[in-house]
Amino acid sequence: MNKSKIVLITGANKGIGLETARQLGKKGYLVLLGARDEEKGREAVSVLINEGIDTRFLLLDVTRHGTINHARELIEKEYGYLDVLINNAGIYLDNESTPSQLELSVLKETFETNFFGVFAMIKAMLPLLIKSDEGGRIVNVSSGQGSLTRNSSPNSTSRLQLAYNSSKSALNALTIQFAREFKNTPFKINSAAPGFTATDMNKGMGTRTVQQASVVIVRLATLDENGPTGGFFEDTGEVPW
Ligand code: NAP
Repeated sequence: MNKSKIVLITGANKGIGLETARQLGKKGYLVLLGARDEEKGREAVSVLINEGIDTRFLLLDVTRHGTINHARELIEKEYGYLDVLINNAGIYLDNESTPSQLELSVLKETFETNFFGVFAMIKAMLPLLIKSDEGGRIVNVSSGQGSLTRNSSPNSTSRLQLAYNSSKSALNALTIQFAREFKNTPFKINSAAPGFTATDMNKGMGTRTVQQASVVIVRLATLDENGPTGGFFEDTGEVPW
């Protein structure tokens, strides 16, 4: 019997995470659907199961290490490996604040989820990912807003949002560091920029659909052994750091 490929996605009860779960599920992956709210998570799981997708709920708040450890133990006991980790959970709290108006607490809270949460997930799951037949894949769902090159362009028209943007720039730095550590192994880690997508994060103002947003994430999750590592990609190609 063929082993199922297993993907774990954080913040997958809605938005880009849920659509990515759907797309990978349709490709035959067993989806471990991470959500911090049990009711919302189980609801999303039943939606996918009704679509014929093999899905299982995992309680996962990336800022609560107990939930991360519990998820790791469960995966270890029941499957013994993990093929793909998609660090999708993210928050945007800047609202209209300019950098000088931003509260330190908002900056810290944003980093707690968008950066420290991802690091904690990777630390916990790496031993299981390395046991994947293909060496493991991580996709960090970053943002074009994390591109220092785009932010510092004199022509930049993007909003000032220090907390969110710097958390995604830091996330990109994390991608590079892990990729360098594992560069001579089959393991691959990349950052994805899904583009400005209509979800609850921007109250539906985004101009792209979740289907469009998930394209680059799915592509990086399913890279073969010749695929890149330590890169930053949107669906049309590389994003400048
Ligand atoms: P969304 O609809 O607001 O979904 C965010 C998800 O993250 C929700 O499931 C949320 O759970 C979850 N989450 C938040 N904090 C969490 C925590 N501590 N632990 C676990 N889950 C947590 O937003 P989205 O647009 O789909 O965003 C998904 C990712 O794409 C984020 O990393 C975001 O930064 C990135 N992104 C989005 C856009 C865009 O335009 N939408 C553009 C570039 C990048 P709850 O439902 O419980 O709140």
